[in-house]
Amino acid sequence: MSRSGLSRRALIAGAGAAVVGWNTAARAWAAEPGAGVAELPALEGTVTLAGEGLERFSGDFGHLVTAAPRAVLRPASVRDVQKTVAFAARHRIPVAVNGQSGDAAALGAAGLESHSSYGQANPRGGIAIDARGLAAVVSVTPGRAVVEAGATWAQLVEAGLAIGWVPPVLTDYLHLSVGGTLSVGGIGAAVQHYGLQTDTVREVEVVTGTGELVTASRERDRELFEAVLGGGGQAGIIVRATLALVPAPERSTVFTLAYDDLDAYLVDQQRVLATGRFDLQVGNVVRSADGGRWRYTAELVAYGAAGRAVDREALLAGLSPVVGETRVVEQGWREYAFRVDAFAGYLRSAGLWGLPKPWLSLFLPASTAGVFMREAAALLTAEDLGAGLLLFYPYARERVRTPLAVLPGERVGWHFDLLAFPAPGADVAGMLERNRRLYERAVQLGGKRYLIGAVPGMTGADWARHYGGLWERVQRAKRRFDPAGILAPGQGIHTS
Ligand SMILES: Cc1cc2nc3c(=O)[nH]c(=O)nc-3n(C[C@H](O)[C@H](O)[C@H](O)COP(=O)(O)OP(=O)(O)OC[C@H]3O[C@@H](n4cnc5c(N)ncnc54)[C@H](O)[C@@H]3O)c2cc1C
Repeated sequence: MSRSGLSRRALIAGAGAAVVGWNTAARAWAAEPGAGVAELPALEGTVTLAGEGLERFSGDFGHLVTAAPRAVLRPASVRDVQKTVAFAARHRIPVAVNGQSGDAAALGAAGLESHSSYGQANPRGGIAIDARGLAAVVSVTPGRAVVEAGATWAQLVEAGLAIGWVPPVLTDYLHLSVGGTLSVGGIGAAVQHYGLQTDTVREVEVVTGTGELVTASRERDRELFEAVLGGGGQAGIIVRATLALVPAPERSTVFTLAYDDLDAYLVDQQRVLATGRFDLQVGNVVRSADGGRWRYTAELVAYGAAGRAVDREALLAGLSPVVGETRVVEQGWREYAFRVDAFAGYLRSAGLWGLPKPWLSLFLPASTAGVFMREAAALLTAEDLGAGLLLFYPYARERVRTPLAVLPGERVGWHFDLLAFPAPGADVAGMLERNRRLYERAVQLGGKRYLIGAVPGMTGADWARHYGGLWERVQRAKRRFDPAGILAPGQGIHTS
């Protein structure tokens, strides 16, 4: 251990920056010990204080917000997280976990990033915690997995498949950190049966904003459990989670149904939802072949056993898609689960992954979803979407039991998810303004935003309106579990 209390590895990682502590008056790292210099804690992991290592944590997938952190911690233990958070709390230094997710096998460490769109994981000049430091799948047994928060859903799926058990709800893209998606909610095509990924959590280990390590579940420390799931990282850092697993299906039969008429699409999707006849249910708003208008496609998946065909007629009974355009593809369960990888590879090779992406993610009540979609369809152009996707599909509110998953009150809601990959030179500022307008309109129509995505200009009043009756509870949890107010400032929830 060095004289400063930092581990040798930490000093080496911060090459050129022989920091000994934090100057409390100047609010900056100090190179010399002295009065007013608080010594940094000794750590098993590494701390990067200068150079390229900070650059990688300055932005995120959205490429809209950039701000270099003061330091990056790559923890080697939960103790590292606890010590760093306790130190930061004493000195009021902001801290945020950065998911550093992505396809590590395909991209290497340099390709990892926070998959936030608008600086949500940015510590705004504070300390970024690299989630890859704690990223192991600890155990996988029938019905249950224990993972460190920096592990990705892809890692968990691979480990689970080895014993024939998988998470019941998956995000569309699997290379996202478990801790990151549990902090926002985690919606996927199985929401109609199992709710959000947060609804599949049995227990979490959390480092609170004071550095205390707490094991929380529905039975134990429930207030913290409910404050961190979908809580945007405001009440604590999830370091480990125990998750439900279900038996892995063998085959996925994927039905793609086309609609020219929005009303027919709304009716059919809600009919499918009401009967629960498919295992997965999503849908897309797509350009017509001539590029002149929007169309709708329902993407519905039935699981089955290898060698046993699903009853196509029964699954499609009573639905009215465009005749002759229904496509049916049968594939292995794993192939469908990893379906976005090939598309992501294309977007990267086309140079679109690294450009600004003003994503917008909303939830509408069923009673106004059609009104909203019609207005959005009139507003949005092919350029707005670029090479991306616009998801639009219903979910059953009752399946989502996570208290902080803020959704419209109606029994059925619609997820509107503009996952734009605009071309180089696109009017990104204009697109952000458009996001704000669409958000305002959604709110007028009883809608809510998802914590992910880019909605500019969120004020304290917006957040109070967003949380509604939960606002008091959200503020109380912040005061109780993060009294110094240092955690995840990039969400803007308590700092706007
Ligand atoms: C290509 C792509 C596809 C996506 N598909 C889906 C999808 O299908 N469904 C869906 O719901 N979302 C989806 N998302 C959004 C995704 O859920 C968010 O980006 C989410 O933030 C996870 O990303 P991350 O793991 O990189 O975490 P980050 O973006 O780095 O972190 C998200 C927030 O949580 C905080 N945080 C991160 N880890 C922790 C932790 N362990 N404890 C406490 N706080 C933490 C961060 O500080 C930040 O505030 C997608 C995003 C992309 C880019």
